[in-house]
Amino acid sequence: MKQNKLIFTPGPVKEFPETNAIGGQQTPYFRNDEFSQVMLESEKMLLALVNAPQNSKVITLTASGTAAMEAAVLNLVSVEDKTLSIVSGGFGQRFSDICKIHQRECQSYHPQQDDDLTNTDVLLPHKDNDILLINAHETTICHQFNLTQIGQFCKKNDLLHIVDGISAFLTDPLDMQLHNIDALIVSSQKGLALPPGLAMIILTPKAIDKIIPEPATLYFKFSDYLTNAQRGQTPYTPAVSIILQMHQRLKSIIKQGGIDSAISHTQSIAQFFRNGIKNLPLALYSKHMPNSVTALITTNGQHAGELVADIESKYQIVLCPNGGALSKTVFRVSHMGNITREDTQKLLNVLHDYYGINV
Ligand SMILES: *Cc1c(COP(=O)(O)O)cnc(C)c1O
Repeated sequence: MKQNKLIFTPGPVKEFPETNAIGGQQTPYFRNDEFSQVMLESEKMLLALVNAPQNSKVITLTASGTAAMEAAVLNLVSVEDKTLSIVSGGFGQRFSDICKIHQRECQSYHPQQDDDLTNTDVLLPHKDNDILLINAHETTICHQFNLTQIGQFCKKNDLLHIVDGISAFLTDPLDMQLHNIDALIVSSQKGLALPPGLAMIILTPKAIDKIIPEPATLYFKFSDYLTNAQRGQTPYTPAVSIILQMHQRLKSIIKQGGIDSAISHTQSIAQFFRNGIKNLPLALYSKHMPNSVTALITTNGQHAGELVADIESKYQIVLCPNGGALSKTVFRVSHMGNITREDTQKLLNVLHDYYGINV
């Protein structure tokens, strides 16, 4: 399999040479103080980057992001709880599916297209629910929700606010205090630009109080993770190398100015790209786009999947096709991770060349 293609996919994303160098080394033994130190420092940095309230804790799972979504439901949503799941695409639907499989009472709310829930009145019929599940950014259609307003709705009506921030972390605002988030899910292969395999759930004291003591799961039992995390360990063998890579990435993000500069970097790349496609037969698909990814619609009637396949075979550049009903018209371009302005210019040149239009 070719590993030298330039990828603009929303996970995995283009990684950093320093991170890859760590991944190429021998995996060390981890039940010792040296590794505990790495874990404890990583926890501290993560909590700072999302502005978690005091006494928040991080649960580190060796798993993909979906496992963290499922683990959050298993540990934080009881069978007595009434859950509201906001569904505007595949990832929102996943939360509803997880609830159904585990027999949690769940109502799905499908916002109108382009409704980012700035006006939360539409949620009022569900204000007596106990839990709200949402993806900060629904990655399948690049639709970003107004977390400030949704957080206020949850606070006012006392709903536990569980947010999948997987494709927003480090690229778009995600502030646990400002957005009143009680449990926040992030994973390694998006904004962090690490290999897939780690997912973190950041819990505020309010969420910690809500943890079910004996959930119907062994591997995902949060209380075991919290006990182990006190000394910088996990109950089971973690993805040691990815944790070392994450430690290095977090240190470097903080050194380069922290969350604000990480977000404004991605924002400038996204804007550069969106400005650069104006002459092309492409249009932005959604109104409330995040910085992390751009969803585009082909305006010349060409099948979007065919365009993505052509660009890969002719130019060794990988874009992201959409699935399902949107596969004919929509594809996506990620700006996360180590994608630079030069990489983006290269993609713009390629797209212009493909359509035979001068840059
Ligand atoms: C990528 C992503 C996930 C995680 O998917 P996995 O393939 O399980 O890692 C979950 N939610 C959102 C919003 C995502 O973008």
